[in-house]
Amino acid sequence: MRLSRYFLPILRETPKEAEIVSHRLMLRAGMMRQEAAGIYAFLPLGFRVLQKICRIVREEQDRSGALELLMPTIQSAELWRESGRYEAYGKEMLRISDRHEREMLYGPTNEEMITEIFRAYVRSYKDLPLNLYHIQWKFRDEVRPRFGLMRGREFLMKDAYSFDVDQAGARNSYNKMFVAYLRTFARLGLKSIPMRAESGPIGGDMSHEFIILASTGESEVYCHKDYLDFAVPSADIDFDDPALLQATVDKWTSLYAATSEKHDPASFAKLPPDKQVSARGIEVGHIFYFGTKYSEPMKALVATGDGKEVPVHMGSYGIGPSRLVAAIIEASHDDAGIVWPEAVAPFKVALLNLKQGDAATDGACEQLYRDLTKKGVEVLYNDLDERPGAKFAAADLIGVPYQVLIGPRGLAEGKVEVKRRADGSREMMSPVAASDLLAR
Ligand code: ATP
Ligand code: MG
Repeated sequence: MRLSRYFLPILRETPKEAEIVSHRLMLRAGMMRQEAAGIYAFLPLGFRVLQKICRIVREEQDRSGALELLMPTIQSAELWRESGRYEAYGKEMLRISDRHEREMLYGPTNEEMITEIFRAYVRSYKDLPLNLYHIQWKFRDEVRPRFGLMRGREFLMKDAYSFDVDQAGARNSYNKMFVAYLRTFARLGLKSIPMRAESGPIGGDMSHEFIILASTGESEVYCHKDYLDFAVPSADIDFDDPALLQATVDKWTSLYAATSEKHDPASFAKLPPDKQVSARGIEVGHIFYFGTKYSEPMKALVATGDGKEVPVHMGSYGIGPSRLVAAIIEASHDDAGIVWPEAVAPFKVALLNLKQGDAATDGACEQLYRDLTKKGVEVLYNDLDERPGAKFAAADLIGVPYQVLIGPRGLAEGKVEVKRRADGSREMMSPVAASDLLAR
């Protein structure tokens, strides 16, 4: 992509309304724009990151055996009356009426709708287990939308819903999502820790929030330090091996980790002092088993092996991709700007022409740009007529993993400079060597 043909409205001033670093950097880097309180437009750079996050989320959901569908954002109030949540949900729900005065709502979540879809088609244990997910916008009229995408009113959510004939099956479905979440956040460059969370009226141990530690997080969390070094399950983990999944979950729940609602100071105090982490965290995912809470009132019944009919056991599993854009920045930035993990970076390479209009420099830039593009490397080529200083600052701000600096001085020796954004290390090399390195 040539910057001269791109839409990247970088701000020089730090926006005053932004209280936390991710919000400031996203506005400055031209990634998004507020359209109303807690409602944002994603601009091209931000949208690229959001899509990359969604791709990883999707790949790991698919790997675990979940199936993607797409439910609408607008739902009918009727459905929510069946579960009893229409009145109970309160002011966070955006209620709408259509031209026929029918009561509708903008979905804050989809348990009712997925239960309705399930009961229309599935009758027997033989069709289970089943896990259906979608990635769709949600609306929650949060009392205090703030921190940009971190707590929006309209936000993107990946929500999955599992269906099993009994609690043992539901536990296995829960474990699959647990493992998929560990892998998802690790691929996004984050260290996530599953923490025991409020499990609602049915109790039990099947509710975890996946938290990443960050000083600007809204949750108070307590955990054992060793979680930060735990190895994440590999891509070839067998999702058809219940014992292996259970062992993985057991390991990842063996040490203390709880959000403030579930915190037990006495148990925490028993950890060796140098292992006690008491910090702030960002909730990036939440998995939850809720049994027959919706299937019972909504009559989503399945036949068991011995001919009985029982309400299906369900769980729901959320991830916030739009919150993750901000969370990744909170976890990875420096004074100069964002430092994207490669997997979600909007581009892999920023190519900086240090002397626009100089024939040799323009030629070398064009050639490397075309060469990398042909190899499938995502390059943002800064071909604007700007001072090098401005180009350096913009490249650091948008946080692309590699910068290639091309100017007359290096070219006189047949070299270009490659800089890694993460550690600032620089190396002079031939354009061919740069191309090989960056296409790896
Ligand atoms: P929170 O406690 O932060 O309000 P929640 O418990 O309401 O979250 P869930 O209903 O479990 O969240 O939603 C699943 C995921 O959706 C969350 O883990 C989070 O990543 C994301 N999410 C929830 N609310 C918001 C929001 N207002 N803005 C952005 N993302 C959100
Ligand atoms: Mg909430």
